[in-house]
Amino acid sequence: MGEMITRLAPSPTGALHLGNARTFLVNWIMARQEGWRILLRIEDLDGPRIKRDLVTELMEDLSWLGLDYDGAPIYQSSRRGEYATAIEKLLRVGLAYPCVCSRREVETAASAPHAEDGSTVYPGTCRGRFATMAEAQAFSGRPAAIRFRVPDQTVRWTDGVAGEQSCDVARQLGDFVIAKADGTAAYQLAVVVDDADGGVTHVVRGDDLLDSTPRQMLLYQSLGMAEKIPKYFHLPLVVGPDRRRLAKRHGDTRLATYRESGVPASRILGLLAKWSGIDAGEHVHDIRSLIGRFDLSLLPRSPIVCD
Ligand code: GLU
Repeated sequence: MGEMITRLAPSPTGALHLGNARTFLVNWIMARQEGWRILLRIEDLDGPRIKRDLVTELMEDLSWLGLDYDGAPIYQSSRRGEYATAIEKLLRVGLAYPCVCSRREVETAASAPHAEDGSTVYPGTCRGRFATMAEAQAFSGRPAAIRFRVPDQTVRWTDGVAGEQSCDVARQLGDFVIAKADGTAAYQLAVVVDDADGGVTHVVRGDDLLDSTPRQMLLYQSLGMAEKIPKYFHLPLVVGPDRRRLAKRHGDTRLATYRESGVPASRILGLLAKWSGIDAGEHVHDIRSLIGRFDLSLLPRSPIVCD
C-alpha cells in the first residue's frame, strides 16, 4: 500500500472557532495515530470573502494548539490553472455545460423540486442548450457559469463515521456549479482536483459536507480518477444550545478570542479532547499526549452541544 495522506482544509472566510478546531483535532489525532501525512490546504478561492489577516490568524490558531502539518501549506488561489484544466476536460467530453441562469431564475423555476434541506434542485434549463461557452455568453450578454451534468446513478459509499450512505444525486441535488461566472472554480471541483493531486486517501470533515461527498465522487469518476476516491469520515458538528451549528449568534467562540483573553491552550485542548471522546482532564498540556488515545468507536455520534 502507498502512503496515506489526509488534509486540514480551512476556509479563511471566518476565524477558526471551537467547532472547526474540534474537527481538526480529530483529523490530526487520527493521522498521527495511523501515520498519515497531513497536508494543510488553505481554501482561499472565495474572492471578496477571504481576508488575508484571517490566514495569518488561522496559522497562529493551529500552532497555538499544536496542530502541526507536513510540508508547506497549499493555497487554492495558486492552483487556478489545475482547476481550469479539469473544467476544460469535462466540457470537452460533454460532462459539463455552460449555464446562464441567475440564482433567482433557478429558484423561481416552477418545476424545480426541492432538495431535502430546502435548497433548490437545478431544473436543467441549460442542459444541452448551448454548443459552446461563447454561444451561451452571446445569448445572455453575461459570462456563463459551468455546471456538471450529473449522471443518472445512485452513488453509494460507506462513511467511516456516518455508515452506509446512498444518494441519487440527479434527483436529490441536481446538476451543480463547478465554475462560477467569473471563472473561479467552485468548491466541489477544486476539492476533488486538490485531493487527487495531493494523493489524499483519507478525508475527515464536518458532516455538513456529507452531501458534497456523492458529488465529489461523481467528479472523480468523470475525470477518470475513480481509483483515487478517498475514504470519508464525516463528524457530527458542534452546535449551540439551540442545536444549530455553532456560529456567531452563539457568542464568540473564536480561538483567537480565548487566546487574547489569556485562556491557556491546554484548557481548550482539554475541552476539544472531551468532545472527541477522550477524557484527558481539564487541561491537556501537550497535544501529543492524545496520540493513541482516540478511538473512532467512542466518538460521540450525535452533535456536541456547546454551552
Ligand atoms: N474548507 C471547507 C470548510 O472549511 C472544508 C472542505 C473539505 O474538507 O472538503 O468547511
